[in-house]
Amino acid sequence: MPRTALDILHSVFGYPGFRGQQQAIVEHVAEGGDALVLMPTGGGKSLCYQIPALLRQGTGIVVSPLIALMQDQVEALRAAGVAAAYLNSSLDAQAQREVERLFLAGGLDLLYVAPERLLTPRFMGLIEQAQIALFAIDEAHCVSQWGHDFRPEYRQLTVLHERFPQVPRVALTATADQRTREEIAERLALGAARQFVASFDRPNLCYRVMLKHNPRTQLMQFLAGHGGEAGIVYALSRKKVDETAAWLAAAGIDALPYHAGLDAATRASNQQRFLREDGVVMVATVAFGMGIDKPDVRFVAHLDLPRSLEGYYQETGRGGRDGLPAEAWMIYGLADVVTMSQMIAQSESADDRKRIERQKLELLLAYAEATRCRRELLLGAFGEDFQGPCGRCDNCQQPPQTWDATVPAQKALSAVYRSGQRFGAGHVIDILRGVDNERMSQLGHDRLSTFGIGTDMDEQGWRSVFRQLLATGLLATDAEGYGTLRLTHASRAVLSAGQRVLLRQDAKPVRATRRRRDGQVITGANLGIEAREQSLWNALRALRTQLARQQGVPPYVVFHDATLLAMLRAMPADEDELAQVSGVGEAKLQRYGRDFLAVINAG
Ligand code: ADP
Ligand code: ZN
Repeated sequence: MPRTALDILHSVFGYPGFRGQQQAIVEHVAEGGDALVLMPTGGGKSLCYQIPALLRQGTGIVVSPLIALMQDQVEALRAAGVAAAYLNSSLDAQAQREVERLFLAGGLDLLYVAPERLLTPRFMGLIEQAQIALFAIDEAHCVSQWGHDFRPEYRQLTVLHERFPQVPRVALTATADQRTREEIAERLALGAARQFVASFDRPNLCYRVMLKHNPRTQLMQFLAGHGGEAGIVYALSRKKVDETAAWLAAAGIDALPYHAGLDAATRASNQQRFLREDGVVMVATVAFGMGIDKPDVRFVAHLDLPRSLEGYYQETGRGGRDGLPAEAWMIYGLADVVTMSQMIAQSESADDRKRIERQKLELLLAYAEATRCRRELLLGAFGEDFQGPCGRCDNCQQPPQTWDATVPAQKALSAVYRSGQRFGAGHVIDILRGVDNERMSQLGHDRLSTFGIGTDMDEQGWRSVFRQLLATGLLATDAEGYGTLRLTHASRAVLSAGQRVLLRQDAKPVRATRRRRDGQVITGANLGIEAREQSLWNALRALRTQLARQQGVPPYVVFHDATLLAMLRAMPADEDELAQVSGVGEAKLQRYGRDFLAVINAG
């Protein structure tokens, strides 16, 4: 009996229905059509090629850029009873031959390969002898030089189409950037493929940006609200990553560092712990994250500004792939704006590249300083017309106040001008506040007309003004990267034409800790787990960890949090009822059903 896409969704994956455009994509590819799939992280791209591969005769070949990603996917497929394997450099020669043998014998539904392996004459020869259901090109943005993960081998993937024109191809990416999308279609010769573009909104992500005043305390308070949860903390430099991870670990948080400066073994083992254990906090540079398929990352924190809004979207997108609530949290301040500007000025890039970098920074700063819905701004930057308020960002939940800062802005700009546009914000603020020290008198700045005209505001207040003037382009840093301030074209309108300047009132930090009175950390509070459900929730998680250990797979390969949560709510009494829970397919029901029912019914 021929199976339908929906049958496979139910029986293999255990899900009640398709999401968004999944069904249309699956049907299109299953019928032999080419497709370009643009869907945000967590949107459910994998099923879009996995189900067609199961529906069609032969093996689906999946091109995937990262070893960790392949292993994850293959483990998850095997747990669901699918004949899947991968070929990459992590296998020894014998294991490779075994996979090849299975492949040629028609014993594989899905085969994951690294692009460089796919392109070898040997592998091309194998493809010719086997029956191929489809080619899936995952992380298709790797073909683009404009993007951030360029992989030269991806450029040669057009050979698939040339040599096997009858095999359907599906390219998938979560990149939100229009230019990259166009490049993908062109470079992979997918101009004639049907495009499926999903909304890039991640409704389960909550966005928050706060003023940086005491990063460690702020981070600690933030983490206290995420007890027992896995998350990523991004920082700009390796040193800061190491220091932050060590400091958190000393404070009793299960934190690990990750950056390109660590040796390969440490990196691999830290990543492994993050994937395989519950509730590990990874402190990392941007070197960490691509290809991390962990579905239950509950928060992504930025201690420093990311490189661009696209980068921010990608990094925060690693949270909440399972569709459960996750938080994107960032702190930033005046020093960050200056540092980022300096980094661009001092980089080796050509001038036009620097100009692009500066534009990207401006966009990011506009997001950070926004007074309206952050989701609206974020999606708008990717050409999507989202109408706020979304109700799930800080600005929607607590609309920020603005104040008329025209006079302080004029004072600030003229202090920059009068001191010769050769000093950083710290010194100019000292001038405004009339700080009388040796340097001041040496430079003769205590005789400037702007000396002491800003005593009505404290340093914090002035820093807020300078930060926002920089962010909105009313001030700029020097082109050489010393971090000194200069006026811009736009400054003039404020200084001489009296243009009004409205600034954001920086929010006062709030405490957000979730501890019980007995001091015990509550787990799962952000998922809506209530106090009376705590012990069963913990028991389900413990069983999952135990089963995962026995099988040497990450816990989410056994069941996702979303599935445990559904069990907790449904309280299935027997196997029939458990089979109805989303995420429980036939293979998992057989393998784990009895153990989970025992825990549920013990309570
Ligand atoms: P992407 O590759 O787009 O980031 P995945 O394919 O990893 O996303 O899917 C994200 C999560 O959503 C996974 O946990 C997956 O099991 C789940 N998922 C995908 N499709 C469905 C569906 N139709 N119903 C329920 N869960 C789904
Ligand atoms: Zn909003």
